Amino acid sequence: MLLGLFGPLAAGPVSTATRRAIRPDPAPETRYTDLIAWGRSRGFGAKSSAGSDELKLYTKSQELVFKANTKKVLFDETDVRLTLPIRKVGEGFQVSKRDLETLLNPLLAPPRRPARQPIRTIALNAGHGGKDPGNTEGRRQEKYYTLLLSGEVRRRLERAGLRVVLVRSTDTFIELEDRPAAATKAKADLYLSIHFNAFDGPGSADVGGVETYCLTPAGASSTNDTGNHGGGWNPGNRFDHDNIVLGHQVHRAIVQGTDLSDRGLRRARFKELTLLDMPGILVEGGYMTNAHDASTIYSVEGRSTLARAIADGVLAYKRLVERTP
Ligand SMILES: [Zn+2]
Repeated sequence: MLLGLFGPLAAGPVSTATRRAIRPDPAPETRYTDLIAWGRSRGFGAKSSAGSDELKLYTKSQELVFKANTKKVLFDETDVRLTLPIRKVGEGFQVSKRDLETLLNPLLAPPRRPARQPIRTIALNAGHGGKDPGNTEGRRQEKYYTLLLSGEVRRRLERAGLRVVLVRSTDTFIELEDRPAAATKAKADLYLSIHFNAFDGPGSADVGGVETYCLTPAGASSTNDTGNHGGGWNPGNRFDHDNIVLGHQVHRAIVQGTDLSDRGLRRARFKELTLLDMPGILVEGGYMTNAHDASTIYSVEGRSTLARAIADGVLAYKRLVERTP
């Protein structure tokens, strides 16, 4: 009798529930939400002319410009890359919920640090070193310029009263996984990795500008991936909200404070970033393969301007997250 009763019940609702429970989340593509409604809920007005692919959300002090079928958002005039393109459905615009959660919402409402945990120590990683020269253009080696720029950023931050730890201060090789570990050991509150870019493909001379990278959120594709590959969770994803806000502050400061062009705040799963125990970003401070960028990277004045901008960005982030309620 009991068996008879349980049998059909178990075969019915239980199996349905089980199927529902084990079915993976709907593909991220299906989890989109209305962008104008989201903007209104945050006090933004919306502007888009009929048939236009562009949507502007604005308040008195902020402006976000979206374009259908692209991942690029102009966020207060800074190029910020979404993980999925904006969709246009009829006259409406849609944004993925993941981009709301991991990018737009934290940028509009940055996290706040407890008053007893101010930012005191910054770990600076000069990319490459020793047997790993990084990008090499003729006799110019990336490892040499990352070290020079890190030293200059250090001086600027120390002058502002922060403690700075250099992951490497000489031309030595350090394994990638040991670099975040050095920052943890030094009890650093933030991690900044300094690199320079190179591009050797067609039209390489025209490719230039600054790119700032945050760790890609779990499940999302990185900015430079082709297609939608997704990807798993990494320890550095504990700081997704801080990472994007730190990345935006530093990227914006570089775009505003130097003459490097804006190649966007992007996402990547660089090993250093995956392993971080604190918020962190990786700055590609221009292309060694671009004549204009190279003149910044290779000159004392150019690096000094870039270092000041990076330090300004770090200090802007510090002020933002240490604000009082
Ligand atoms: Zn590099």
